[in-house]
Amino acid sequence: MTGPKPLANILEITPYKGGQKLEHGWKLSSNENPLGCSPAAREALAKTAEHLEIYPDGSALKLREAIGKKYGIDPDRVVCGAGSDEIFQLLGRAYLSPGDEIIQSEHGFLVYRLVAQQSGAKCISAPEQDLKADVDAILARVTDRTKIVFLANPNNPTGSYIPFDEVKRLHAGLREDVLLVLDGAYAEYVQKNDYAAGMELAGEAPNVLVTRTFSKIHGLAGLRIGWAYGPESVIDAIHRVRGPFNTTSVAQAAAVAALGDDAFVTGSVEHNNSELDRVGPALQKLGFKVYPSVGNFLLIEFEDREGRRAADADAFLRARGIVIRDMNAYGLPKCLRLSIGTKEANDDVLAAFEAFAKAG
Ligand code: PMP
Repeated sequence: MTGPKPLANILEITPYKGGQKLEHGWKLSSNENPLGCSPAAREALAKTAEHLEIYPDGSALKLREAIGKKYGIDPDRVVCGAGSDEIFQLLGRAYLSPGDEIIQSEHGFLVYRLVAQQSGAKCISAPEQDLKADVDAILARVTDRTKIVFLANPNNPTGSYIPFDEVKRLHAGLREDVLLVLDGAYAEYVQKNDYAAGMELAGEAPNVLVTRTFSKIHGLAGLRIGWAYGPESVIDAIHRVRGPFNTTSVAQAAAVAALGDDAFVTGSVEHNNSELDRVGPALQKLGFKVYPSVGNFLLIEFEDREGRRAADADAFLRARGIVIRDMNAYGLPKCLRLSIGTKEANDDVLAAFEAFAKAG
């Protein structure tokens, strides 16, 4: 007896593996906020948790209104999901059939590929220049079957930033029936004047969707809550395919409170940016190659073709209670990705890298 057989395309999927947890030590493998979350979010969650017997508002109206107010956008053109991951999955459900294609930049976020595979669609990777999305390479790969182009800005795991001029050029080169998804999971960390233009483009164009998450700067990864903003037709399609209660009452309430806590967000950005400026150069001084990052993480490259030295460093750090992320699944075996931690964690990380460099 063999039991029920999943679809062939499902069996091709390599399940997503998250960053490992640790009983003791520092978990710096999933780009989480080392400062936790807003106390107001915690309070709102506790208050809402007094009535867990009540179903959530499936449309997350209060949260959409809070998002609309915060960003000056129409709440009817916002949809919430169980993390931005779920929004991507819902896009796959709504727009991809077997044989269709999505395009991502070569070292794009792993979930894009999973979304394609789940629908029997193909994930086409466009080569990068110096680990940065290359607009011409993406446009050169568009075919009649292309349905979605995913662009994370900043990109995980490379930390790269694509200026709005390039985003605009990418959009201008796409047919109107190709959806351009601008994944802004790390948006709040970006200190660039042209960044908000992406949101404006999603307000005007018929085929641009911006996605955001409460998992990163807001420190609510455990609650699984994110959102998307874009054309009415795309938002409508997502509503049609989402579960009736796809986001929880506690997550919605915590997210509303988190949006109202500017001091927490500002503090988190300041902490991140000063630590990024400290840890990156310190690692370089120790002789490691560090890619420039506008996110809350650093990509570190080790000199060795097969990635053995990266694996050695990973094991060396792990033995000292520091878990960072190997980049094999991203096709970057020579690299490790380090999330920015608390000052104390970062001190330990630098000491461990120094010991590793000395050990040879
Ligand atoms: N996009 C990018 C680029 C990410 O790095 C992540 C999280 N690792 C996500 C989206 C998904 O975040 P979430 O589902 O927690 O909102």
